[in-house]
Amino acid sequence: MSVWYSEVMGKSFDIGLERLTGVGVPGSGETQEGGLKPPLQVAAGAESTFYLETFGCQMNDHDSEKVAGVLLTRGYRQVETPEDAKVILYNTCSIREKAAQKVFSRLGELRPAQERNGKSFNAENTEEEHRDDLPANHPNHRKMVNAGGGKIIGVLGCVAQQEGEEIFERAPWVSLVCGSASYRKLPQLIAELEAGNRRVTGLDTDTDETFETEITRRDNPWRAYLTIIEGCDKACSYCVVPFTRGPERSRASASILEEVRRLAEAGYSEVQLLGQTVNSYADPSAGKMRFSELLGAAADVRGIRRVRFTTSHPRDFGKDIVEAIEAHPNICDHVHLPVQSGSTAVLRAMARTYSREEYLEKIALMKAARRPISITTDMIVGFPGETEKDFEETLALLDEVQFDSVFAFKYSPRPNTPSLKMADAIPEEEKGQRLAILMDRQREIQRVRNETLVGETFEVMVDGKSRRENQWSGHTSSNRVMNFTSPERELLGDYVQVKVVSAMPNSLVGEMVGRA
Ligand code: SAM
Ligand code: SF4
Repeated sequence: MSVWYSEVMGKSFDIGLERLTGVGVPGSGETQEGGLKPPLQVAAGAESTFYLETFGCQMNDHDSEKVAGVLLTRGYRQVETPEDAKVILYNTCSIREKAAQKVFSRLGELRPAQERNGKSFNAENTEEEHRDDLPANHPNHRKMVNAGGGKIIGVLGCVAQQEGEEIFERAPWVSLVCGSASYRKLPQLIAELEAGNRRVTGLDTDTDETFETEITRRDNPWRAYLTIIEGCDKACSYCVVPFTRGPERSRASASILEEVRRLAEAGYSEVQLLGQTVNSYADPSAGKMRFSELLGAAADVRGIRRVRFTTSHPRDFGKDIVEAIEAHPNICDHVHLPVQSGSTAVLRAMARTYSREEYLEKIALMKAARRPISITTDMIVGFPGETEKDFEETLALLDEVQFDSVFAFKYSPRPNTPSLKMADAIPEEEKGQRLAILMDRQREIQRVRNETLVGETFEVMVDGKSRRENQWSGHTSSNRVMNFTSPERELLGDYVQVKVVSAMPNSLVGEMVGRA
């Protein structure tokens, strides 16, 4: 179970718009207006359609945007339901057990009728043959009848990497298994399936390249995600990411900045630089641009009004990042700096590479900044061996730091991780109680902090319109959710000034007082 204390990292932009952008791969030519490039290679027929469902973090969301771009380039069309699709793809997350389970339950929904009767599955089965198996009023009827017959079903992402070819054993109707570290191979794998191959895999993690595509199909028309570093070398003892996403590899700074320029030209005003440990960025090119310099250079691109970055690792968080924020008003005043625990003993067991005191030193750097920086974090409760005293230290850290938002999770034992074998597992019930206590404490902190903002005016990027008349929503630079009133007819994508009139633990309520 996970508890999100605020929507600050969540998605509030369900507006049904999408854009395509070319990433500026050298030699790929200029993008057309709106960033859309003509398909380079159309291999699929006009009726070729794909359904893509994404689980997990923003990096997965963005990987899916790139995967969608790859398929669109091949002439596929995206559809909203698995029933309507020729290719069904699940981009999966395995960070906690529940997330991984969800994927297998989705795959179960697609299980062909023959499998359910213990007969072997035949990819040539027609929809007609499936139709008899379930009563027409069965909730899964349509899904079942459509599975099999000529469809390509693929598992991408972390579960694919973790389970590998075993997925074919558990769900023989799957024909593509590809981990995120092998996404560069995706076009080739898809071509093999189109050529009639029954099963293909991409499971290498030793690639030293990043996944850059000719076209990315972006879901949000104003905020663009850009992965600048993939994988993770940190080896926290509870975490599957180093196994599922492979070693750290950074993208060349010139290529990143070229993409930022193209995004600005295509009308994006906000870019969010992504990485599991985004501030561990190590420019592979001769210029060796530091992460803080990259932030500044992205902020200097004409047309870019906001630069965000997530997730930062405390070990690599230095004063230079705070100085970049101070020097560039359009680098957002928000840092997500996961701490995981307030106890040095637990941090050591987690192999987080910093102590409570060292973490607090990083916090002090931000608190000393010339403009207020909003700080958010991740916490894990119930790590093996976490004593009552350790947990008290975590609660005390909440009081001391005064985070603006906390994403809190119950520890979930994961395959291949060192913490799986650690003694003194905490019972589920105890984990649940600790999570609830932490949640209550943090909610109160957020309520009090947000109330101090009543009467202040903030710049808000408008990214949502309510069905209720005159009601809008957006995000402040600090990534707070602001719900506000305005009689304006069209504000989506605009930057406006909003005065806070009341506050809740997870959001602010305001009224528009002008254009930004
Ligand atoms: N790279 C980021 C960092 O170092 O903080 C975190 C990436 S991870 C995808 C997001 C969050 O999931 C982590 O910060 C941690 O709180 C949580 N998490 C990771 N593994 C977990 C596990 N085995 N059980 C519970 N929570 C976990
Ligand atoms: Fe996982 Fe730790 Fe890497 Fe974050 S830094 S992705 S928690 S191993």
